[in-house]
Amino acid sequence: MTEARIIRVAGAIAEAQPLGDAALYELVEVGERRLLGEVIRIQGDIATIQVFEETSGLGLHEPVRRTGSSLMIRLGPGLLGSILDGVGRPLTGLAERSGDFMAPGERSGDFMAPGMTLPTLDPDARWSFTPTVAAGAEVSGGDVLGEVEERPAMVHRVLVPPGSKGRVAEIKQGTFTVTEAIGSLSDGTSLTLSQPWAIRQRRPFANHLPGDRPFITGQRVFDLLFPVVEGGSVAVPGGFGTGKTVIEQSLAKYAEADIMVYIGCGERGNEMAEVLHDFSRLTDPETGRSIMDRTILIVNTSNMPVAARDASVYLGMTIAEYYRDMGYHVAVLADSLSRWAEALREIAARLQEMPGEEGYPTYLANRMSRLYERAGRVESQGTPTRTGAVTFISAISPPGGDFAEPVTQASLRVVGALWALDPRLAHQRQFPAVDWDISYSLYADGTRAWFSKEGGADWSELRVETVRLLQRDRELREIAGLVGVDALEDEDRLVLEGARIAREFLIGQNAFHPHDAFSSVEKTYQLVKMLWTFMQTGETALKEGISFEKLDLAAVRVAFSAVKTAPRDELGEEISKAKHTIAEMRPA
Ligand code: ADP
Ligand code: MG
Repeated sequence: MTEARIIRVAGAIAEAQPLGDAALYELVEVGERRLLGEVIRIQGDIATIQVFEETSGLGLHEPVRRTGSSLMIRLGPGLLGSILDGVGRPLTGLAERSGDFMAPGERSGDFMAPGMTLPTLDPDARWSFTPTVAAGAEVSGGDVLGEVEERPAMVHRVLVPPGSKGRVAEIKQGTFTVTEAIGSLSDGTSLTLSQPWAIRQRRPFANHLPGDRPFITGQRVFDLLFPVVEGGSVAVPGGFGTGKTVIEQSLAKYAEADIMVYIGCGERGNEMAEVLHDFSRLTDPETGRSIMDRTILIVNTSNMPVAARDASVYLGMTIAEYYRDMGYHVAVLADSLSRWAEALREIAARLQEMPGEEGYPTYLANRMSRLYERAGRVESQGTPTRTGAVTFISAISPPGGDFAEPVTQASLRVVGALWALDPRLAHQRQFPAVDWDISYSLYADGTRAWFSKEGGADWSELRVETVRLLQRDRELREIAGLVGVDALEDEDRLVLEGARIAREFLIGQNAFHPHDAFSSVEKTYQLVKMLWTFMQTGETALKEGISFEKLDLAAVRVAFSAVKTAPRDELGEEISKAKHTIAEMRPA
């Protein structure tokens, strides 16, 4: 058999011949340095390979070896808290090397044996395993074999790999590495704490379930106006500097999910350095534990190879689905999907494929919808019964902030909510700069019951009223622009003032203020409630003939600000003070 050799190299793409017997998406080792690559096209006996590592220095006639396997990741205990590159290799030690995220070159010759997965998990770490099934049990894919405490209070359920089936011949309690046998099936299949999975493939589940519970983002503009369900998907498009990264990072830090998968995809390296810096220091106020205990960071910044950027989103989704299958709610935060799409475009261009709209490959929309479809709330395979969810929130960076471009449009066809960011609001420093005129959520109905129970019985009414207030505000401001504010009726001036309070103290949130960055459902409810108490008190005063000028608005604003920035344990007190201030705002 002739050995396959490189016949062409262009950027992230190499061609090898003869390699016609390779499978599509098979992993190969490219060149003397055995760079990791993936077969993405086969024509005759020539295979086209996208290389996940820097190809500079790669020469013609260097050998290419098949591995017999597609890009797999080993899923198991130890994923939490890890920092991985786009193909799943740990980037340990990078936290100290701020700004420098070049893929590590330390991959030695024997790093990858054919048909093996990448060593995402520490091969030496030992985990204490407690079985929950006994020898003799009939098991199949998705059944829980037992448990490992992966992080404090974080139970990792060890599952029978999808597709496996049989009778448990032996199962042991004890301490094991991720590849040691914890037992076996009667056909001899050995059971381990970990399982490989091909990242481009969606993990199976028993049933799709409708979302019924909101993913609490801690951002009032989302939780109140444009909520997302657990298992939902959201597109967050916005031009440069509109706050996409701040939103994704705030969610990763403070939002309420069991597990967060943050994918830094093609954005600047220094932003990722900030993430690493912040995340390693932040603790969850509820538990006092590091937020890294529930976080997985995937890093493929703009200076890293573009093919690995393509892989990074599938890697993130696969990890999320794995924890979903254990019965957890996982949020996947991608920044940004546009950079992923650009990687596809770059590779398609190298392949000289027929370009579609704006140079993106014609299959872009299809790939994107298949990616978004990996979000959802499901009943897992196997016993005991578990429900889990993957919520997908992806930033999109449309060139020039123009939403008419293919990536935004393809997303809008499949997502359940749009959080559109507006550069004018960002310019006015109205953050999060969510354009409430064009943003929407199809999940408002599905989350109504939950919010009326957990937030307040009138949650939905207050939501609708607030949307109306903001619409009315826009109309009035147009009129005021023509005739001047002084020409408006007092009732209209009250609406303008209410909307201003809504923008500044309800919707507006400072991501850098320790007590404003996250808003509990309680705080959100109290603030919107206060807004409407203010409006009613004002309306009554005006009806009784008190002029708008006489209302003590300055005191009201101070009170709103105090509630907005109140620490958890002072919230109650600030709310009572604010209620008092609102009641007293009319002159005696
Ligand atoms: P993008 O990722 O869309 O380019 P960023 O998320 O980096 O934009 O935000 C740009 C800047 O806007 C931030 O550096 C910050 O100064 C400001 N900003 C965005 N969101 C907020 C927020 N919620 N609170 C305070 N400042 C914000
Ligand atoms: Mg950004």
